[in-house]
Amino acid sequence: MSTLTEDQLAIVETTRDFAREHLAPHAIEWDRTKHFPVDVLRKGADLGLGGINVREDVGGSGLSRLDAALIYEALAGGCPSIAAYYSIHNMVAWMIDRHGNPEQRHRWLPDLCAMRGLASYCLTEPGAGSDAAALRTRAVRDGDHYVLHGVKQFISGAGSSAVYAVMARTGGDGADGISAFVVEADSPGLSFGANELKMGWNAQPTRQVVLDGVRVPVSHRLGAEGDGFRMAMGGLNGGRIGIAACSLGGAGAALDAAVAHLTDREAFGAKLIDAQALRFELADMATELEAARTLVRHAASCLDQGDPAAPQLCAMAKRFATDTAFSVADRALQLHGGYGYLADYGIEKIVRDLRVHRILEGTNEIMRVIVARGLIGATR
Ligand SMILES: Cc1cc2nc3c(=O)[nH]c(=O)nc-3n(C[C@H](O)[C@H](O)[C@H](O)COP(=O)(O)OP(=O)(O)OC[C@H]3O[C@@H](n4cnc5c(N)ncnc54)[C@H](O)[C@@H]3O)c2cc1C
Repeated sequence: MSTLTEDQLAIVETTRDFAREHLAPHAIEWDRTKHFPVDVLRKGADLGLGGINVREDVGGSGLSRLDAALIYEALAGGCPSIAAYYSIHNMVAWMIDRHGNPEQRHRWLPDLCAMRGLASYCLTEPGAGSDAAALRTRAVRDGDHYVLHGVKQFISGAGSSAVYAVMARTGGDGADGISAFVVEADSPGLSFGANELKMGWNAQPTRQVVLDGVRVPVSHRLGAEGDGFRMAMGGLNGGRIGIAACSLGGAGAALDAAVAHLTDREAFGAKLIDAQALRFELADMATELEAARTLVRHAASCLDQGDPAAPQLCAMAKRFATDTAFSVADRALQLHGGYGYLADYGIEKIVRDLRVHRILEGTNEIMRVIVARGLIGATR
């Protein structure tokens, strides 16, 4: 029996239908041609996917983190790369909703919720990834503006987005010297690197964001000076649930495909699905995925309830779900034999897409750092 409410079951069904109709049929082609389907993203916004955790007065859906986890899992059943971009866009929209003043919320959120404009999250730099608090992009106050100089690395959606949540240094070294800004795409001095050639996530662009003397009005700073790093980390708690849920959806699709393939395929005079060794493998894959799903949903609920352990639980869920789902997808590929290695079957794409979930939004090593910190009560 499902522990989900009727509303949640309806959300899952609607999102699955959207993924089945608008994502799955095109996912292999978008991966091959490196096409970012902005028109399809906007269609999803008609269902409320552009502002999932944003309050309703600015066009958001006002849903919980648990609801969001269900949505990203359902979307990723159609295409993990697109589902993950929805998650990143929503992370920025949530940050503006949570930390923006009324003027800022009304300036940016209606367009973001409708996905008339997309959002990018700009924390990582060439010299500061895991150690994000060492970032060097500077924002120097000049009257009513800040002037931003620096380079952001690996930015999802860059070049296509309308707004960039940029973490930059306004003070001294360390986390307390960092502030958050919303930089609009048409700002003079803002430019983008080439679309990176990647192993997966080909249906969304990844580019450097270059800030060369970009003048940003003081009114575009989120919160107070020095609050930026805490805001960025707060966004990542939800972001990690999102990425974890995308892994579950991708692996679930790979598992379904493996069951279908083995049911169809014959060898040694029998259906492969009748080989007990293969049934046991499928049973283990399903069991591991269910354990990961339970942890992700529990972490999401704790985040909804403001549980002080939520950051640790989000890190546990991200580490466990992304590793488990990658393993499940890889084993589903193995169960397809040589066909799993062919692009037309879509399994190798899922494996490639899920690989990066173990790296971004904090590597799985950094997830262990966070979990261990919680265990020993350390502050660093
Ligand atoms: C496709 C893609 C999209 C991305 N999108 C975005 C985005 O939209 N916005 C954004 O801001 N960033 C984005 N990132 C960046 C991503 O979050 C970083 O790549 C990630 O945080 C790791 O940083 P790094 O690559 O500099 O690796 P490093 O920090 O250099 O780490 C190298 C290795 O050392 C390990 N390591 C580092 N420190 C420790 C430690 N203390 N203990 C144990 N192990 C450690 C790491 O786990 C890793 O295995 C994206 C990355 C990719 C690949």
